[in-house]
Amino acid sequence: MENNILNAVSYSKKHKDDFVESLKDFLRIQTISSDSNFKNELEKGAKWLSDYLQSLGASDVQILKTSRHPVVYGHINQAGPEKPTVLIYGHYDVQPPDPIAEWEHDPFEPIVKKNVIYARGSSDMKGQIMVALAAIQSILSFGPLPVNLKFFFEGEEEIGSPSIRPLLEKYKDLLNSDFVLNLDAGMIAKDRPTIVYGLRGLAYFEITIIGPAHDLHSGMFGGVVFNPIHALCKLIAGMKDGSGQILLPGFYDDVMPLGESERVSLNELDNPDSFYIEQTGAKEIFGEAGFSNVERLGARPTLDVNGIWGGYTGEGPKTVIPAKAFAKLSMRLVPHQTPGKVYEQLSQYLQDNAPQQISWDLKQLASDPACITEMDFYATHCFSQSLERIWGKKPVFKREGGSIPIVSHFQTILGIESVLSGFSIPEDRVHSPNEHFNLDLFVLGIETVIDFFYRVSLEC
Ligand SMILES: [Zn+2]
Repeated sequence: MENNILNAVSYSKKHKDDFVESLKDFLRIQTISSDSNFKNELEKGAKWLSDYLQSLGASDVQILKTSRHPVVYGHINQAGPEKPTVLIYGHYDVQPPDPIAEWEHDPFEPIVKKNVIYARGSSDMKGQIMVALAAIQSILSFGPLPVNLKFFFEGEEEIGSPSIRPLLEKYKDLLNSDFVLNLDAGMIAKDRPTIVYGLRGLAYFEITIIGPAHDLHSGMFGGVVFNPIHALCKLIAGMKDGSGQILLPGFYDDVMPLGESERVSLNELDNPDSFYIEQTGAKEIFGEAGFSNVERLGARPTLDVNGIWGGYTGEGPKTVIPAKAFAKLSMRLVPHQTPGKVYEQLSQYLQDNAPQQISWDLKQLASDPACITEMDFYATHCFSQSLERIWGKKPVFKREGGSIPIVSHFQTILGIESVLSGFSIPEDRVHSPNEHFNLDLFVLGIETVIDFFYRVSLEC
């Protein structure tokens, strides 16, 4: 095994410039998934990937149509049935480059300066896809792959993957694998290799409070009707107490408590209040009492009002009692809460607390369950060992505050776990102007993935 790793790593070092040139070609394709004017570019991106897979000798390479943007599939089975099959996940779509004026260079004409490549998608996540492809190519340059591979590259991640659930259902058998390798999660710092093992979910709601049949003059009717904005504000104010506890009935019943050892390891990543004050510009930090910031961000659920409106908000006075009031509300969920159950809890809260003079309506606008991967999953262990070997230090295990819905789709539909890591860093300006990817990390990433494929083939 050691010789094979050395061979592959030396090939990858010798061919670094070729891999960067391929990445540049990939980055020139303007795969902006949110804008229908770029539909052809998405198709070009899918074609580019399927050609690349074919050049690696992958079999059964297909561009699977969806109602929006296609998925690229292929497989390489060289290791034999007793070896694991790894599903390589990636997304080839990117965020729009706006605001264009803030870019120092054309976002779709990649350039390399001081060993950093600049272009939209360089870090999130075409560069990460290229890490995996380069690792595979380096091994194939002298011998067979030690694991079997399947590829799943989607073009809708940046728009919430609307086609992916039905597609996974439809191609369940084709995609059947032992686990997923997803390099879309990144590192907490350049010298801190990272594995993400928990992701918060999301439940998003719109509440409508319905008062009188139409807007009323506050002189003629003020004093005899319940103002829907007042009702809404009362309801929102009652959802949390002064110590940051969420008061919906049963809200914490399903929250998985942190174990003592997990708490200790997670808190090694904690930052002081001053860090968050600097990041946010807030006067003081506020969060659920009894928990550290890192716990509040990764392991505890939240409830936030995202917008509130109703009545008159234009210039000057208008004496109106509005007919309706609205709010948008989001909750970040943790294992084992479910979006369906928090919908019930929010409805129950409104039922119990809404003034009888108004009526209300509740719509659920988005729902992604939280997920957590088994910490002692063998493939995660192996990835951790590879990171440690290449970086010379143990990786940190992190719970992510946001959600990556594909991870729970793979869990619930295909029944498989994901190894979640990657080589982007917080300063890469992902989703912002002048996005870039550090090519030192690109090279270390390739070495890590090479090491991992051999290690996991022996269950490390
Ligand atoms: Zn991404």
